[in-house]
Amino acid sequence: MRPDFDFPFLAELVRTPGLPGRENLVADCITAALPASWELERDPLGNLLARRPNPGPNWMLVSHMDEVGLIVRRITPEGFLLVERLGGISLRALPGSRLTLWTQNGPFPAQAGSLPAHLDPGASQAWDSVYLDIGANSRKQAESLGVRIGDGLTWASELTAQADGRLVGKALDDRLGCAALVGLAHALSDAGLKVDLTLAFVVQEETMLMGGLPAVNIRQPDVIVGVDGTLAFDTPDTRGQQSEIVLGAGPAIKWMDAIRGKMAAFVPDLALAQHFRSVAGELGLPVQDEVVSGISTAVTPLPYAGRGARTAALSLPIRYHHTPVETADQRDFIALIQLLTALVT
Ligand SMILES: [Zn+2]
Repeated sequence: MRPDFDFPFLAELVRTPGLPGRENLVADCITAALPASWELERDPLGNLLARRPNPGPNWMLVSHMDEVGLIVRRITPEGFLLVERLGGISLRALPGSRLTLWTQNGPFPAQAGSLPAHLDPGASQAWDSVYLDIGANSRKQAESLGVRIGDGLTWASELTAQADGRLVGKALDDRLGCAALVGLAHALSDAGLKVDLTLAFVVQEETMLMGGLPAVNIRQPDVIVGVDGTLAFDTPDTRGQQSEIVLGAGPAIKWMDAIRGKMAAFVPDLALAQHFRSVAGELGLPVQDEVVSGISTAVTPLPYAGRGARTAALSLPIRYHHTPVETADQRDFIALIQLLTALVT
């Protein structure tokens, strides 16, 4: 059966702010969307665990709820906000972009300053020259609006649909993965489930990678499957580099990734990853193969927690990672839910 694609739910999930350490509203949104039959628990760190008990082996599927953004570190006497990055937000995409500032008095629109084109010397803007304009004329006025050091900013970018099932918006990394796990929960029938299944929606991937550790210690899974975005290499500036992963050709089975150099690399349990490949083959589901450096995900530290778990990962190809216009393909999302459904039933 082909799972439904719920555009309004994904749009709400993407719109909801969830900076690292501040994922509670995203967890609320997911909680409201899960079928009532799932047992829910939030650990003290903020991870949301949704469980469907079963006598079978103990499986945990993991997606992260947080998104990249900025945090206010100073307010200038003129009322501009100077910021630090929360996670690896794209510096290239910042100048001239719209963001939302989240304060004790609610959200405010903000724009990242940029030199007028007329004055642009042509060199790229230095990171420490980035500033945010919220329309305040002074620090005092900014403070009177409720702005405080430590407030967060997220991209202001609504989810949009393009031709042929393309999806564009902020935070598809990894709300698309979260939406896939929610879609899986709806696709599963009681009778079919063959594993004791926990869907773990975890925190603090973009800053520390390690937010999922308490979830593993609580549930002690035998098998962990990460579900997150990966890089697509199908645009004029990325084609031919590293990998042939493209949008629309199915989720990717991760064989290796690494954030820098060759240390801190993730390698899956080989038999488990090969099992994914053969199940996809039997069902005629499209899958791609991922060996990419420059990316790490929440699953990297998890095999070493609990009793030690067999761990593998499935990735959704995404263009323009960590910008306001992350772009994905609905067909990869549907195929991922179909593959996950087959694996747990
Ligand atoms: Zn991610």
